[in-house]
Amino acid sequence: MKKCLYALICCSLFTLISNAATMKTETYPTGTGDLKVTLLGHASLKLEYAGKVIYVDPYSQVVDFSHLPKADLILITHEHPDHLDVAAIQQVKTSKTKFILSQACFDQLKYGEVIRNGRKAQTLGFSIEAVPAYNLVHKRPDGEFFHPQGRGNGYVLRFGKLKMYVAGDTENIPEMSKLGIVDIAFLPKNLPYTMDDAMFLDAAKKVKPKHLYPYHFFEFNEDKLLPELKALGIDVIIRPMQNK
Ligand code: ZN
Ligand code: ZN
Repeated sequence: MKKCLYALICCSLFTLISNAATMKTETYPTGTGDLKVTLLGHASLKLEYAGKVIYVDPYSQVVDFSHLPKADLILITHEHPDHLDVAAIQQVKTSKTKFILSQACFDQLKYGEVIRNGRKAQTLGFSIEAVPAYNLVHKRPDGEFFHPQGRGNGYVLRFGKLKMYVAGDTENIPEMSKLGIVDIAFLPKNLPYTMDDAMFLDAAKKVKPKHLYPYHFFEFNEDKLLPELKALGIDVIIRPMQNK
């Protein structure tokens, strides 16, 4: 029995240590303190700024949220289960956690502040703008787009002088060209739901961020994509999509 318990503790410790080893955090100056960015996997982000912890699309299939700090704010882009995951939310939410989400997410959760594409919210001292995220090409077999225009949100967040764009599930839509200077961007790349390699490169050209995190991918062909992205002067950060 004791041996079993010892093995269990060792195994849990190993999981914790291996999670900590694979989850890398980047620190960016904003002019008003540092922003810490951790791509947890798939479309899940952890952001830390001014003593607050923000999650975007926390997803329990990529990381064990019970080991992570509680959320001051959670942003959810859309209602698909790899983005709106109640199991992950339950592990990081407290009675004080604020939520910003789409109408379809609100319809399921029944709490949080809904913002539509083009609208802004101010919460916990942050300015958060919802921007379009939708398919132009890829559809379900029944002819509906995976992500119809106007339903889901991307988000533009401002931390001091730093601007971050979290694209959500989208293709290379024309609105990406109108975001202005973007310091950090998260762009999705997988089929059939979001973008193929050519669409991803076009989206990167439209957004032209200083730092780009490809996310929400099944595979990323570094030999093919990195030279073109680097030629645009973009710093590309690639992280594992699974940290569990
Ligand atoms: Zn989706
Ligand atoms: Zn998705």
